[in-house]
Amino acid sequence: MSQYDYDLFVIGAGSGGVRASRLVAMTGARVGVAEEHRVGGTCVIRGCVPKKFMVYASDFSHQFKTAQGYGWTVPEPSFDWKQFITAKDVEIARLSGIYASNLAKAGAELVHARAKLVDAHTVELVGKNRTVTADKILIAVGGRPWMPQDLPGIEHAITSEEAFHLPELPKRILIAGGGYIAVEFAGIFAGLGVETTLVYRGPNLLRGFDDDVRAHLAEELKKRGIRVILGTQHERIEKTETGLVNVLDDGIRCESDVVLFATGRRPYVGDLGLDKAGVELTPEGAIKVDELSRTTVENIWAIGDVTDRMNLTPVAIREAVAFAETAFKNNPCHFDYVDVPTAVFSQPPVGVVGLSEAEARRLYGKVDVYLTRFRPMKYAFIGGDERVLMKLVVEPQSDRVVGAHIVGPDAPEMIQMAAIAVKAGVTKRQWDSTCALHPTVAEEIVTMREKFVPPDLLQAAE
Ligand code: FAD
Repeated sequence: MSQYDYDLFVIGAGSGGVRASRLVAMTGARVGVAEEHRVGGTCVIRGCVPKKFMVYASDFSHQFKTAQGYGWTVPEPSFDWKQFITAKDVEIARLSGIYASNLAKAGAELVHARAKLVDAHTVELVGKNRTVTADKILIAVGGRPWMPQDLPGIEHAITSEEAFHLPELPKRILIAGGGYIAVEFAGIFAGLGVETTLVYRGPNLLRGFDDDVRAHLAEELKKRGIRVILGTQHERIEKTETGLVNVLDDGIRCESDVVLFATGRRPYVGDLGLDKAGVELTPEGAIKVDELSRTTVENIWAIGDVTDRMNLTPVAIREAVAFAETAFKNNPCHFDYVDVPTAVFSQPPVGVVGLSEAEARRLYGKVDVYLTRFRPMKYAFIGGDERVLMKLVVEPQSDRVVGAHIVGPDAPEMIQMAAIAVKAGVTKRQWDSTCALHPTVAEEIVTMREKFVPPDLLQAAE
């Protein structure tokens, strides 16, 4: 009989924690898991899932307009925010319930409490007047939104967490930030008819993405009526009689009803007792782990956003799988972070796998680029100006496709498929041997034969 209450105690029942708890419990090990809020974590409760419902809801306004172009008579549509939020919350509760029952079915014991470390084998369950001991401990507490607390008036701003529960739909919103969450919420609110301003301090949105993707998306967002202000910092937020005013450093004053700061997330490591157990942090404040997700303490492991490696749900899940294999199935393994597909559910959305052109150039020196921009037939039919961008980055020595980038309708769905080929390391020749499927938007990705030469280089050559 083990000297501990559990073989594994997991702190946090989000994407990573739930998967790890289930997999380890299914080996017959005794598993406990603490959750301070709701089972499912960020993804299910205040991230990917409710966000996607909001994207679906807001995209209808676009589809109503399209339908008119196809001959439909569409009565003036109206949107009921409260009805939508209620329905969304019912669905989120259902999903959270499934996560909890899956834990129970696997034999893991769920404790509704905040947990913190007392030492390397002991966890305090806050408010339960109880401590538990475990042979191994897994920290999967995720991250939290970050806001510049020293910005005057920041107390008037909300984060993505509150955006899912606004009591009513505002008439005007200002969104600060240029990452995927900021861009997604800008699309959501603009689609729902809210006058939307996106303010970002950088030269373009989506830092880290391919430059053509960034430029293309910014243009498409403007076409959808979003006011995009780049290269500007916030000086303060003022509350006035008519709303909130963001004063920007170039003197611009933007008035809105809601100010949403989506300026990044940080690992949620505060008051976790890490120092008591000897768990160290990186200089950036994430839990320091080795390749196998082991912390600086031999029996304590960490996965997911709290390690700030690649903050995506499927990655947290795969790290959980690798942890279970390594720590409980005597099969040391780690997740491979190469060629992980990602999406931005902006409107239009973005799908990416592999390297941007700049990353590929840094890595390989010379690269070949294939790029096309076109009006998809669905929107060209109604005289729409929306354009799709598709781009492939090829390493010329091996002829391998090392990056695929799409901005346009269904880009994330297309990229999930393209990721199989990129991950498998197919060459451009093999890629091109795939027959087109007509008529689709996706067919363009297998019909790009001409290498792309930027217009300025063409002019220089003329
Ligand atoms: P989490 O899912 O955050 O789970 C951590 C859990 O631990 C939480 O339930 C928390 O309440 C609990 N907890 C924290 N501290 C304690 C404690 N001391 N005691 C007990 N419980 C504790 N990813 C995608 O792949 N695709 C997307 O489209 C996407 N969209 C997103 C949209 C938004 C608005 C946000 C915020 C995130 C999005 N993400 C998306 C990221 C994704 O949600 C995270 O990468 C993922 O949830 C990380 O999982 P995790 O297990 O590390 O942490």
